[in-house]
Amino acid sequence: VIIDPFRFAKKSEPLERVITLQPKDRLEGVILENSEITIHLSGNRNHKGRLTLEGELSGSVKLRCQVCLENIDYPVDVSFKLVLVSSEERAEELTENEEAIIIIDDQLELEELVTTELLLAMPVSASHRDITGNDCISDDALVSGELETQKSSSPFDVLKNL
Ligand SMILES: [Zn+2]
Repeated sequence: VIIDPFRFAKKSEPLERVITLQPKDRLEGVILENSEITIHLSGNRNHKGRLTLEGELSGSVKLRCQVCLENIDYPVDVSFKLVLVSSEERAEELTENEEAIIIIDDQLELEELVTTELLLAMPVSASHRDITGNDCISDDALVSGELETQKSSSPFDVLKNL
């Protein structure tokens, strides 16, 4: 999906699209399967009168746990605000708290935008502990049947041992 972001920002009519990301190109090895991400985008002007794109991404992607190599569902919840500029030189005119997106030929591909913002929001290390807060379900536990035992024992069994 290609939009003219300058026109879009002036019109200030928000859009919402579902973008299917594929595990290839910049996302190869990052996400494991096709993922549907919803982008909500609106145009605006910032306090300096510069045209901006403000957006939110939501959905989830599958990442590979760097510890146990199993899949993890990673919830995507990203918001961004970008100042539209037409060249590198223009981008350099911005202040520190303005983030530029350089637009070539008045065209912006939404897939590219979603990919870039998603990559910026990816965790530095993807592991069950980092993302879900829980330890990995290790293969050892599965093999020795520890999980089975845990499931079948009643929570009151713990009380017996007290
Ligand atoms: Zn894991």
